[in-house]
Amino acid sequence: MPRQLLTYLDACLPDLLDEMRQWIEIESFTRDITAVSWMVNVVGERLSKLGASVRKYNGKPQADHLLASWPGEGEPILIVGHVDTVYPPGTIDEFPFRIDGDVVRGPGVSDMKGCILLTCAALQALRHFGRWTSRPLKFLITTDEEIGSPTSRRYIEEQARGCRAALIIESAEEGGWLKTWRKSVSMYDLVITGKPSHAGVAPELGISAIHELSYQIGQILPLARPEIGTTINIGKISGGTAANVVAAEAHCTIDVRARKVGEAERVDQALHQLAPRLAGAKLSLEGGVNRPAMEPTPATMALYAAAEQIAKQLNLPIKASGTGGGSDGNFTSAIGVPTLDGLGGWGSDSHSFDEWLSISQFAPRAALLARLIETL
Ligand SMILES: [Zn+2]
Repeated sequence: MPRQLLTYLDACLPDLLDEMRQWIEIESFTRDITAVSWMVNVVGERLSKLGASVRKYNGKPQADHLLASWPGEGEPILIVGHVDTVYPPGTIDEFPFRIDGDVVRGPGVSDMKGCILLTCAALQALRHFGRWTSRPLKFLITTDEEIGSPTSRRYIEEQARGCRAALIIESAEEGGWLKTWRKSVSMYDLVITGKPSHAGVAPELGISAIHELSYQIGQILPLARPEIGTTINIGKISGGTAANVVAAEAHCTIDVRARKVGEAERVDQALHQLAPRLAGAKLSLEGGVNRPAMEPTPATMALYAAAEQIAKQLNLPIKASGTGGGSDGNFTSAIGVPTLDGLGGWGSDSHSFDEWLSISQFAPRAALLARLIETL
């Protein structure tokens, strides 16, 4: 079976690359609702041809999300992918779709329209060989992953509940590694309000928001516990108007990542307990935990072991890995669904003008996904 599957997928490759070009040339930047809706419809039609019933979910103010489903018996399998990209319209002129040796390049080839197409190819192969899963299968295509999945989160969790597995088709990065863990992602804005005054004439009448901010940063950074994977980055600060003015306002962003469940909440609570040191200064904290940590639970590791078996049959390199970056797998994992991520193509350098997806690994990776769906 592995050999036939690879031969079939390889034979489909020229058509798939043509299709990929068309998909990439629809510049589905998250905020471009028309383009993203168009992309969603293209994928919807593609999946309908594979026998799916499709429906949409409200994604306002972004484009609507799409759920393709196929009936079956037992606990369902959920596949999750997103069609939105980080590239604003017009990027294609500077960074066109092109075949460059063994890789395709273009905005969204690996993150992740190429991976959605790879999933379509895997499903197409299962149909071709009559090896469709007996389980109900659901493929959720979302439109707002790149901005933190504000409206899709609820549908992702709803669809994942009770599933045998959540398969996240983010790309596998160089080496082809699958992801069994991802850190949580929390983001905050801390705004400090003080009171302006002349720094020379009446410093005592002012309340320096910048001095207060410096003090607060000194309180925030020790909340990190890098030894267990909890890190904090103050990525941006601003404030003040002039050297001789006591600053009336100051601001910083706080990015918190944690490997362990519970850590994001610990830091979140501590941040909410920050209190001003200077009399009269005001703190305002906005933001919170965006994506909970995805931990390598025993159920997830069992899923990985199944994928490893299949990869061996296909002679594919495989390893369990993880990253500090979040995905929609964080959500499915946090509600207890065995989750395996990085099941898309082999590609990387996403969010840059170097983004690539391997051509020679396309068929093997599609075969891996197909066999996993078939055998779960
Ligand atoms: Zn991305």
